[in-house]
Amino acid sequence: MQAVNRARSALTRAAIRARQRNEGPPRTTRDSLAQWARANVPDRDLIVLSNREPYSHRRNGDGLVAVRNAGGLTVALDAVMQALGGVWVAHGSGEADRDAVDANDRVACPPGKPRYTLRRLWLDAEEQAGYYSGFANSALWPLCHVVYVRPRFELSDWEQYQAVNRRFAEAAVAEAAGRPALVFIQDYHLALAARYIKEARPDIQVALFWHIPWPNPEAFRVLPWGRDILEGMLANDVLGFHIRRHALNFLDSVSEALEARVDVERMAVDRGGRRTWVRPFAISVDAEELGALAELPETVKAAERIRRDWRLEDCKVILGVDRLDYTKGLSERFAGIERLLEKYPEWQGRLAFVQIGVPSRIELPEYRAVGESVREWTQKLNDRFPRAGGPTVVLIEGNLDFRELVPYYRLADLCTVTSLHDGMNLVAKEYVAASPDLDGALVLSPFTGAARELARAWIVSPYDREDLADSMHQALVAPVEERRERMRVLRETVLRRNIFDWTLEVLDTIVGLGLQTPEPAASPAAPAPASTPPVIEPRS
Ligand code: UDP
Repeated sequence: MQAVNRARSALTRAAIRARQRNEGPPRTTRDSLAQWARANVPDRDLIVLSNREPYSHRRNGDGLVAVRNAGGLTVALDAVMQALGGVWVAHGSGEADRDAVDANDRVACPPGKPRYTLRRLWLDAEEQAGYYSGFANSALWPLCHVVYVRPRFELSDWEQYQAVNRRFAEAAVAEAAGRPALVFIQDYHLALAARYIKEARPDIQVALFWHIPWPNPEAFRVLPWGRDILEGMLANDVLGFHIRRHALNFLDSVSEALEARVDVERMAVDRGGRRTWVRPFAISVDAEELGALAELPETVKAAERIRRDWRLEDCKVILGVDRLDYTKGLSERFAGIERLLEKYPEWQGRLAFVQIGVPSRIELPEYRAVGESVREWTQKLNDRFPRAGGPTVVLIEGNLDFRELVPYYRLADLCTVTSLHDGMNLVAKEYVAASPDLDGALVLSPFTGAARELARAWIVSPYDREDLADSMHQALVAPVEERRERMRVLRETVLRRNIFDWTLEVLDTIVGLGLQTPEPAASPAAPAPASTPPVIEPRS
């Protein structure tokens, strides 16, 4: 079976290369990904580990309702899980999550159409504070994003992080229940999980995708437990980063900190008799669905309604869509808008800036400060540059549903992404995907992973206020042919490699890199898998 799988994987890799050259077979779809997964990963269970769960439950009157958590990654992995019927282990964070699970903390997903199992893990307030708010978001997040926010290293946070990673690993091992398995771990919350999994079950194939940047070794080496993090990550068979630069930074960090054979040519690390492959896989979005959504009559109507509500009819609209996070360069963006209105006064009264700000990690003071800053900037610019019809700056603080968000993409004449450091930045790709009429322009920070692919955007450093103002002006006044041509090229890029291609490429690498699948270890004591977990039907 392995030989067959390897042959299939080689074929798939040839297809991927052809697609990257924009020739050959059509891009991956939800269905073809599912088909591929059934053909290529049939002999082992797929177990996904992520902090965030794909579905959460909330109360609705006397019943429960399941909500699918948004995000391209969740959608793509949900499709694979539906095809393969594995187990997804995640933190149960919904208000009614406990009411929806069986005695083994499992619930069938998708709710109402069960195809796989969601195994929920409960974290108490202390675990949540130490592992999530503490080590993940106050140490690793600022450490990996070079934005000059100082990381905080607390021993108690580190201890909670280890303990919670161990709990995720134990859940994965229990769910594998002695069978061959492939565990796909998501993100910086779970850097150590592979190590604990391999300690219990060395035969399980494990891959981790790191969704944020990896800094250079100079920046990384200040982490007191850096060696432990690297060793934990090297327990994976495959490690994925968005871009080659981050993968190379990781290899450099390993070279500097550990005794290991680092093969930069082949992008592999050999240590303690085992190998880890390190690979770039640029994540993307469901571009086709976004394009179709943008063209729906109700989307066009919703965009018109927003224009009317904010009296934007005679205005050019600049859009920003971000979590309220200090990595997103929001002050820099507001300063750029201010400079644009100063330097090109013809825009005063004829331009509006709509900023959607999603409240994020508000338990941390740095994040509350970002919210305060954007509110102050909004007030300041509205006082300084009044507009007859409505406000010059419209700040919408909230987490919009995808269907609510797309009309904003659709109406914007220009979308700004000014991240100071960002693993990828999906907003940039979503905006492009949601502009099927080619009537739009993207001003994009070079410090995003997305800038590597979206080179036809107006690429400008958020640190250069003058250039930011000039670029926004140029993007707005560029001849319509230039705007359309740039957008056409950008759209081709996001349509050529979508989120399903990304998922296929990662899984294909795990399956196909010549990994051995030894006989499974003796079955550990594990709860029997729930054959028919209860299904809770949404009530509305
Ligand atoms: N998003 C959303 N609702 C909003 C604003 C943003 O669902 O009101 C989504 C957006 O569609 C995108 C994600 O949040 O998929 C942001 O991803 P990105 O990579 O840009 O930044 P991150 O928040 O992951 O750092």
